[in-house]
Amino acid sequence: MSEIRRDPTTGDWIVVAPRRLQRPWQPQDFCPFDPGAPETGYGWDVLILPNKYPVVSEEAPPASGDGLYEVVRAYGRALVVVETPQHDLDDLSDLPTEHIAKVLRAVVDEMRRAASDPAIVYFLFFRNKGKEIGVSLTHPHSQIYELPVVPERISRELERAAAYWRERGRCLHCDVLRREVSSARSLVEGRHWVAFVPHYARWPHEVHVYPLRHVQLLTQLDDEEIEELAAVLRRVLCALKNAVGRPMPYMMALHQAPLRGDHRYYHLHFEIYGMYRPDGKLKYAASAETGAGLYTLDTTPEEAAERLRRALSSCRPDTS
Ligand code: UDP
Ligand code: ZN
Ligand code: FE
Repeated sequence: MSEIRRDPTTGDWIVVAPRRLQRPWQPQDFCPFDPGAPETGYGWDVLILPNKYPVVSEEAPPASGDGLYEVVRAYGRALVVVETPQHDLDDLSDLPTEHIAKVLRAVVDEMRRAASDPAIVYFLFFRNKGKEIGVSLTHPHSQIYELPVVPERISRELERAAAYWRERGRCLHCDVLRREVSSARSLVEGRHWVAFVPHYARWPHEVHVYPLRHVQLLTQLDDEEIEELAAVLRRVLCALKNAVGRPMPYMMALHQAPLRGDHRYYHLHFEIYGMYRPDGKLKYAASAETGAGLYTLDTTPEEAAERLRRALSSCRPDTS
């Protein structure tokens, strides 16, 4: 049994997937993503595998709701992007830029495939890093969920961007970008991409990465933009690793438009949440945050940006 239920009081989607409880939890003696493991084989440097314990699948049973309780069939695909054969590599930022670009291109190819399935409406690409935040396998990997619904936080962003576009005839995100570039919160300013700690950060070391070009989908990026994205992500993730003395756990999610419909008012970006406070203690999303959606910050975005800029200067230049 697996289905997607909607909270009628908030609009949130919840994937009910009890079989996920079976997945291995931080095993010490084997790794399913190593070369030569049953699902991987040899001779690869980036691999996209079906998630063995998927939240959504093509075999999902039919689902039915009613006028109060909306239920959607948990149709879709869940994939793991194994980013390198090297099990003990700490993070994506330890790979050469060219290799990171290869990972990104593999994700883009998969997104093209997903877009050809009319039942998939959202392509969610994300990455969890760090045992502290509960990764079940430490081998460097990110994940893809190809979903039949648009996640609620994305829907909220779409609504606000659409309203801004309607009222002012401009992109909300382009305006945010212009405000952040050259500000005290700016981190990286490239030819095609910028990275900054947003004025409205919710996590202690939060970084948003934006293309300067107003695009909605990962598949719209050209080769040069993909290459530079790899370099910028590498730098930002390295800064997070060096910011407080020990590797920072983080969560990263791509915010892009849905695969269906006209969302020209939206502007894709990556959001990266570095979870350590400046003193190296983990920030929890506790009652105010989780219970009420009210985030409290024990630092300022400006001060976090300064720390991350300092950390950047200790990052090795590209090794590729
Ligand atoms: N997994 C897999 N094949 C295996 C073992 C695990 O596909 O043999 C998946 C597992 O379902 C999980 C992912 O690998 O989704 C590891 O992801 P992570 O720990 O980042 O986060 P999780 O999805 O567990 O929250
Ligand atoms: Zn824009
Ligand atoms: Fe966003």
